[in-house]
Amino acid sequence: MTDAGRGRMAPRPRRILLLVAPVGAGKGTQARALGERLGLAHLATGDLFRGAVRAGTELGRQAEAFMQRGDLVPDQISVALIGEQLALPDAAPGVILDGFPRTVAQAEALDAMLAGQRTAVEQVISIEVPDEELVRRVAGRRVCPTCGTPYHLDSDPPSRPGVCDRDGTALVQRADDREDVVRARLARQGPPMQDVLAHYRQRGLVRSVDGRQAIHRVTEEILRTLADPADPAA
Ligand code: AMP
Repeated sequence: MTDAGRGRMAPRPRRILLLVAPVGAGKGTQARALGERLGLAHLATGDLFRGAVRAGTELGRQAEAFMQRGDLVPDQISVALIGEQLALPDAAPGVILDGFPRTVAQAEALDAMLAGQRTAVEQVISIEVPDEELVRRVAGRRVCPTCGTPYHLDSDPPSRPGVCDRDGTALVQRADDREDVVRARLARQGPPMQDVLAHYRQRGLVRSVDGRQAIHRVTEEILRTLADPADPAA
């Protein structure tokens, strides 16, 4: 007899969704939107590392040099960070992992961690955008150092070139948005990302989504894909 047959509700399985995409593909934006729509926690290792660097913690000190070069932070550090985050109460109903795993060793560590909690990765969404489009998107980003408002030279320019609409401060480019750093990130992080996709493709878990579409269309396509696990677009 099932749990439901005994008059008890079977517990809902914890949802573990992975969003895999290169820098500039809109991974963070999509993960935030999906987290809200699906009621899941959004865990972004890049955001957690940046927060730790700003706060000057031991974790930030360990991660900073790797991030500045466009390299991955060593697996041991990233795996420990995600282990802590998965244990937090907010993560109990399920999570969208944004930017983790980035290597097969991280994927294997995640799989083992989840197996120990009697759960597993449910689906992996790969947001795909050609490299030249990614470079154009990221290298065109500018930000106001005073109020944090983001701009884009092509798609969202300020009304007066180089100056924030809100407070008139001169706009800046983040160090890791510089074209040479973006190209380094794509070159160094692309191959391990493909290996992570291959790892989950073997288990039939990967679904690809065209990241060149408008932001809301990408979100809708991901939601449709999650609702229909047999989607042939994989
Ligand atoms: P992101 O915001 O996801 O592009 O991440 C920014 C930077 O943080 C990356 O370029 C890496 O240096 C580092 N990082 C984020 N997630 C990971 C991870 N899972 N493993 C190693 N490094 C990471």
